[in-house]
Amino acid sequence: MTRPIILTGDRTTGPLHIGHYAGSLRNRLQFQDSHEQFLLLADTQALTDNAHDPGKVRRSVIEVAIDYLAVGIDPEKSTIFLQSHLPALAELSMLYLNFVTVSRLERNPTIKDEIRARGFGRDIPAGFLCYPAAQAADISAFEATVVPVGEDQAPLIEQTNEIVRRVNMVARQRILPEARAVIPPSGRLPGVDGKAKMSKTAGNAIKLSASPEEITAAVRAMFTDPNHLRIEDPGQVEGNVVFAYLDAFDEDCVALEELKHRYSRGGLGDSKIKNRLEDILQALIGPIRQRRTELAKDHAYFVEVIRKGTEKAHDKTEATKRKVIEDLGLFTL
Ligand code: ATP
Ligand code: MG
Repeated sequence: MTRPIILTGDRTTGPLHIGHYAGSLRNRLQFQDSHEQFLLLADTQALTDNAHDPGKVRRSVIEVAIDYLAVGIDPEKSTIFLQSHLPALAELSMLYLNFVTVSRLERNPTIKDEIRARGFGRDIPAGFLCYPAAQAADISAFEATVVPVGEDQAPLIEQTNEIVRRVNMVARQRILPEARAVIPPSGRLPGVDGKAKMSKTAGNAIKLSASPEEITAAVRAMFTDPNHLRIEDPGQVEGNVVFAYLDAFDEDCVALEELKHRYSRGGLGDSKIKNRLEDILQALIGPIRQRRTELAKDHAYFVEVIRKGTEKAHDKTEATKRKVIEDLGLFTL
């Protein structure tokens, strides 16, 4: 029986953080036995806002791959590959750019947020504005139907499906499948600074490689409820970063509900909720950090994993590209 295909991945802009863990890595771990899973090291997409620093994009390739294995991704089960080494992805991207308008790209809510966050103003790199078409190429080249991602990616999957529908309409047949985003209920994890999203670029992340001291410092500095001045004051749970993290990582839902109740009623200090979060994060990150340190010693092994994965992905993406070109009715030699 053929398993449903997953395509998902990460921009190679730095080591991964606990937002990735909550947003997509946890789901990928669950899916790796039941699905055929392709994991994209998105170095081409990373360049769309990092063209000034290709060295960072290159170095981050192995960093992200190490994070994958450190959290439990098994390269025998999941195919880990490098985006820039698959010509079919670039070719499909060029094709798809003709199936989307500039104004539609500009209206994409994620792109709008990211343009604002990066302070591009009017100087938006063309590659950045167009990366949703490249993402449509990544997903459809694998004929993926399932995409485990964080909540910020939902508008991009929607845009992928719009492009896929246009291609299918012109080809007058369903040559490409539409994809479904699988988004965890915890939503997007805010940054430690309370900003909307934890991200590598914003520098507001707790990395999966964080030391015990870094975890302690990050939790201590976390934003809670500015009006919760005395322990006996009622505290606000909504918009409180510590509770957003507890929602994502505390497995004892009953105890968490009780904690929220006590906090909102008054009588529970910030240090109590922060201590609980710190214990949970130390227990989560400790073993990942240890495996990371071990794995990082064998650089050559990771090069081999990525090389093998990219070879496998090459065959699949070339086949889809040929099919799209033929079914659209373009000239072929
Ligand atoms: P960058 O700042 O370079 O864009 P990033 O931290 O946003 O990096 P990406 O590589 O863009 O990370 O995202 C990879 C995956 O992780 C996506 O599926 C994204 O939705 C998910 N993700 C990233 N940050 C978060 C977050 N804070 N909460 C939940 N999911 C997240
Ligand atoms: Mg991002």
